[in-house]
Amino acid sequence: MKSKVYIETFGCQMNVADTERAATGLRKAGYDLTTVAAGADVVLLNTCSVRERAERKVFRRINEIRSEAKRAGQLKPLIGVMGCVAQLEGEAIFQNAPAVDLIVGTQATDRIPSLIERAQGGEAAVIDLDERQEGEVWDVSPAERRSPYVAFVPIIEGCNKFCSFCIVPYSRGRERSRPASEIVAEAKRLQALGYKEIHLIGQNVNSYRPRVEDGLEGFAGATRFCRLLRAVAATGLPRIKFTTSFPRDFHPDIVTAIEENPNLCDWVHLPVQSGSDRILKLMRRGHKRSDYLARIERIKNSSRRLALTSDIIVGFPGETDEDFQQTIELVRQCDYDSLFIFKYSKRAGTPAAEFHDNVPETEKTARFIELEKVHRAAQEKIYRSYVGRTLSVLAERQSSRSEKDLSGHSTCHKVVNFEGDSSLEGEIVDVLVTAAKTNSLYGNLLQDQR
Ligand code: SAM
Repeated sequence: MKSKVYIETFGCQMNVADTERAATGLRKAGYDLTTVAAGADVVLLNTCSVRERAERKVFRRINEIRSEAKRAGQLKPLIGVMGCVAQLEGEAIFQNAPAVDLIVGTQATDRIPSLIERAQGGEAAVIDLDERQEGEVWDVSPAERRSPYVAFVPIIEGCNKFCSFCIVPYSRGRERSRPASEIVAEAKRLQALGYKEIHLIGQNVNSYRPRVEDGLEGFAGATRFCRLLRAVAATGLPRIKFTTSFPRDFHPDIVTAIEENPNLCDWVHLPVQSGSDRILKLMRRGHKRSDYLARIERIKNSSRRLALTSDIIVGFPGETDEDFQQTIELVRQCDYDSLFIFKYSKRAGTPAAEFHDNVPETEKTARFIELEKVHRAAQEKIYRSYVGRTLSVLAERQSSRSEKDLSGHSTCHKVVNFEGDSSLEGEIVDVLVTAAKTNSLYGNLLQDQR
């Protein structure tokens, strides 16, 4: 009998992509994949360590899985920790959580089948924190993708930026870019399978620097990422999105490529982290407020209306009220369509963990609330401006709020809900927006579209 494996994913899109990749390898090696933890022979937790809260969640989950199996009178499944927490904490996990049998680092995804085999063979405390091996594939089987219409395509892994607050360079290693020829071939395969939208993903997609030119020949651009965008656009895939972009490497030619190609979607995610030059320097972001605003100006002046989203950290060590007011002012100036606000979380091993964290938790919370209020006011205005406009929406699934409604995304990456039946799932339809809600739009399907 084949073992049943359950994988639970925490954190970013890179983790979602790694889970899909791990599942592909496991299925190829003869394992069954299941979508529920109960009754699984192997439970893998694909973890996130970007903030302390995410990390704590994993240890809670390990205990829950062990107790659920006990209550059901089942043997404890083989428990594995993969992803960023695994890479960072390594052996220590075995001491802190003795129920764990297996630790799989961020670059060992393709070796999971043989690691499970070793653990099932009786080897205690199996661990692999090694680097990826040459020739390991990035391919994902369509059967393992979380959506039949929207696919994540990793183009770069790791991070070389070493922002002082961020754990990613330690958990995911240095940047490694995938050859463009492979990315384009995957985009074409996905299109043939009926996918309507792909997201080119990576910690910093616009730092894309493959070792080889393959696949970029004949495509112009100021950087290799700009050339890649044009190469992927040339496949004719209906919708191409990309995230996350790093401000310092954001060349204006990215906007030009979007203007030239309607299938490059009208959305840019450009995390700023702070509006204060003093804090940006302490964060080691490698850009000043003015550099960031120059990039925003190009985005705002585009001939297409581009949606703009960002990430901000409040309460970074040493952030004064004056620094914070500069962030508020920048947020007012940028008019973000969406903003992800995080309270600073100390990550052991990062340079900022050594800084004196003099912002009390209550102050971090107060800044979070104040910034959210400023952003919400701008967002409400932007969302209301869509009322009366027609958006092209990819119908992805039944809405979780109403059985009668479908839910999807616009090209500008807004959630749009509308009344429609399940036969429309996977179709790109026109929706007339009738109402703006918090974080989503509601509309009516324009008839006779099939
Ligand atoms: N590489 C991208 C960048 O920095 O532009 C984003 C990657 S990170 C996984 C996603 C977001 O988490 C960051 O943009 C940042 O706002 C937030 N983040 C990262 N480290 C953090 C920390 N120590 N405390 C709070 N938020 C953090």
